[in-house]
This record gives sequence, C-alpha cells and structure tokens, in this order.
Amino acid sequence: RLSLTNISKIYNGARVVDKLSLEIEPGEFVSLLGPSGCGKSTILRMIAGFEQVDEGQIHHGGNCLSSTQIHVPTEERNFGMVFQSYALWPHMTVEQNIAYPLKIKKIKGEQRTKKVIEALEIVQLNDYAKRYPNQLSGGQRQRVALARSLVCEPEIILLDEPLANLDRHLRESMEITFREFHKRTGATLIYVTHDQTEAMALSDRIAVIKAGKILQWSTPQDIYNKPNTTWIADFIGKGS
Ligand code: ATP
Ligand code: MG
Repeated sequence: RLSLTNISKIYNGARVVDKLSLEIEPGEFVSLLGPSGCGKSTILRMIAGFEQVDEGQIHHGGNCLSSTQIHVPTEERNFGMVFQSYALWPHMTVEQNIAYPLKIKKIKGEQRTKKVIEALEIVQLNDYAKRYPNQLSGGQRQRVALARSLVCEPEIILLDEPLANLDRHLRESMEITFREFHKRTGATLIYVTHDQTEAMALSDRIAVIKAGKILQWSTPQDIYNKPNTTWIADFIGKGS
C-alpha cells in the first residue's frame, strides 16, 4: 500500500499541503477531488518524486520514498504518470513515443514490440501506430500519453486532470478507457480532478481536498449521501 503520513509542502511560508495523511490500497482507483489551487498537483508531484516533502513521510510497500531525510528519485519509483501537460515527442511516431520508456529501461526486440502492441490495444489506437502526434486529435494524444505511462506496467499510475480540455464525448469515452484499463491491469490509479461527476463515476474512493487538507475520505456513495460539511455538499452540487 501507499501511505502518506502527515505530509506538508510549504511554499514561501504558505502550507499548500497541510499535514495530510492518506492510505491507498493496492489496486484502488482513488480520486483527489477539490477546487483549483487546493494542492492536488502538489500532492501528486510529491508522490511522483518531483518534490520532496517538507514534513511527514511517504511509504510504498513498507519502503520510505520521501521524508525530510530520504528522497528516492522519480526514476526509481516505477510509477506511471500523465500530467496536465502531456507532452509527446513531436519527432517520434505514436509507437516510438510509447516505446520510449522501454528503451530507457533497456527492454529490447520482440519483448518491446509486444509491450507496445499491448499498450496500443488498451487505449485502442492500434491503427495509429505510425502517425506523428501532430496528426492526432487532442483525445488521441492523451491516449498515447496514457499508453506511454502504463507500458512499463507500473504498480501506481498518477493522472493529473488527464481529461482537461477534452469535449464531453471524448471525456466519456476516455472514462470508459480508464475503467477498462483499471479492471484489466489491477494497477493503483490516483486520479486528480476538480470535476465531481468524473470523480464519482470513476473512483472506488475519493479524498475531498480543501486548502491542503482532506475534508472527507470515503466512497462516492458516502460522499454523496453523507457529506461531512456543507462545503462538500455545495461542492458536489447538493447544496440547498
Ligand atoms: P489546479 O486544479 O488549478 O490544477 P491544484 O489543486 O493542482 O490546482 P496546486 O498546483 O497543487 O493546486 O497548487 C497549490 C497551491 O500552491 C497554489 O496556490 C499554487 O499557486 C501554489 N504553488 C504550486 N506550486 C508552487 C511553486 N512551485 N511555488 C510556489 N507556489 C506554488
Ligand atoms: Mg493541478
């Protein structure tokens, strides 16, 4: 399991993540839900290892990944990531983009080809393997980024608003992609969004975040039926 224990991030004296604790079980689909600026991306960057915690610890499978003393580098964490800006290499085809993390890991030949084909199948882009990113729609590019994040079979995949800027139709088809992907791989998914309907539709559990703190950590049903505070009721659109 992944454990965040009293983690904080302090920028210029401001606690943007404030002694936050969270335990995520292997294989869970978890959403971090909250308004713009509440600290969601910062939490994800600390899990990914782009930032060190200023207080507290992050453990995975019993090993400490981050504390004020310890910092395991991103490359050694084997987490997949799709961030708000999902830059693909413009000079590489879809299959070359997806193969890139495997190349870094020195996975070669037939094994590499096989993994790329599997990843393409999951995001249903088999027919697009030879295209370049500028020959794809926004949604297709996002699917390539997803395929690239999962090709090394990471235990944990971090997704930072992966559906931002997509139209409703594409969002809906991508939501199905995420759910099927989750079922098929059993990976732990940590999904950042400010969209309550998306979080409700996708996740096993949701952490509702406000100003760097978790207000409620529960199933979508619980959060909908028994919101802890009127702020949550308002935020999920149940305000009176
Ligand atoms: P959004 O939904 O808009 O992406 P978010 O919940 O992901 O928001 P964060 O990006 O985590 O929010 O930012 C949390 C707060 O920390 C914001 O007030 C932001 O301005 C501040 N912040 C983020 N990164 C830095 C940084 N490197 N230096 C200083 N302040 C930062
Ligand atoms: Mg963000």
